[in-house]
Amino acid sequence: MSTVSAYSATSATEPLTETTITRRDVGPHDVAFDIHFAGICHSDIHTVKAEWGDVRYPLVPGHEIAGIVTEIGSEVSKFKVGDRVGVGCFVDSCRECAQCRAGEEQYCTNPGMVGTYGGVGRDGELTQGGYSGAIVVDENYVLNIPDSVPLDAAAPLLCAGITLYSPLRHWNAGPGTSVAVVGLGGLGHMGVKLAHAMGAKVTVLSQSLKKIEDGLRLGADEYYATSDPDTFTKLAGSFDLILNTVSANIGLDSYVGLLDVDGTLVEVGIPERPMQLMAYPLVSKRRSLSGSMIGGIAETQEMLDFCAEHDVRPEIEVIAPDYINEAYERMLASDVRYRFVIDTATI
Ligand SMILES: [Zn+2]
Ligand SMILES: [Zn+2]
Repeated sequence: MSTVSAYSATSATEPLTETTITRRDVGPHDVAFDIHFAGICHSDIHTVKAEWGDVRYPLVPGHEIAGIVTEIGSEVSKFKVGDRVGVGCFVDSCRECAQCRAGEEQYCTNPGMVGTYGGVGRDGELTQGGYSGAIVVDENYVLNIPDSVPLDAAAPLLCAGITLYSPLRHWNAGPGTSVAVVGLGGLGHMGVKLAHAMGAKVTVLSQSLKKIEDGLRLGADEYYATSDPDTFTKLAGSFDLILNTVSANIGLDSYVGLLDVDGTLVEVGIPERPMQLMAYPLVSKRRSLSGSMIGGIAETQEMLDFCAEHDVRPEIEVIAPDYINEAYERMLASDVRYRFVIDTATI
């Protein structure tokens, strides 16, 4: 085992503090790497605050991890020392169920993917995430970061990027399709960039027009305020695909009404409370309501390569580790454009 520096949460209410954690010895199939950057995802905050269920503390969050390989196991074939690599939201899965065999490990049913933090690994130990100096992960759950993508920009792609890329691909966004992204935050701004790069017509639906200049600069063709009731009249029946990145409850009926015949509204944010929906707007135009969670390893690699090829990068603010707690406060106030990335090399 090796000891590495980290930032951990010790309870749902205390600020994160500097600590040390241990990483397992490098096994035959493992890759060890120094973490250079870790993005801060809203899931980190929800988990730390125990809003998504019980948490075993101390917990080191972080599942947008980018760094450089320092050691490989004897059987490792995909990576070598010095490679630029990343890890996203999970570090293992059963590898045997139909979903794992299909490369959709995020939907593993036996019993489920092993989260990068707060999960239980094969060694029985609690997994600890990316707000730390180094990590050891099985090579099958490690991604290759293309040379042209800087490591700090690569980090948020590993959760925010793939969370939007996967549904855009699954529902065939591209030339001739009309995509709306609800909410222009960490997730939404990636949705705009990716959908635009895929050739779709992109509309941002945001509470106000406060970020309209950003939205258009990031690749949106149109931008509407959802606080204006006229928006829902004007855009009725307009979209093939709506990606809802907002994790607060929205009026689903109004948004479903914006879908064209056969259109789909996809939830990627996760509100805590139930939402209501009338059946008639779905029935009357064969519309669908669905959800989507990150993406598999192969698709995440495809997304990284797509971002390299199409010059898609998240908008980031790099911070020092001792700024994490302040960054959490600012995220809760929606005061970030658009993703905090921790310079973990200085932990
Ligand atoms: Zn995340
Ligand atoms: Zn599985």
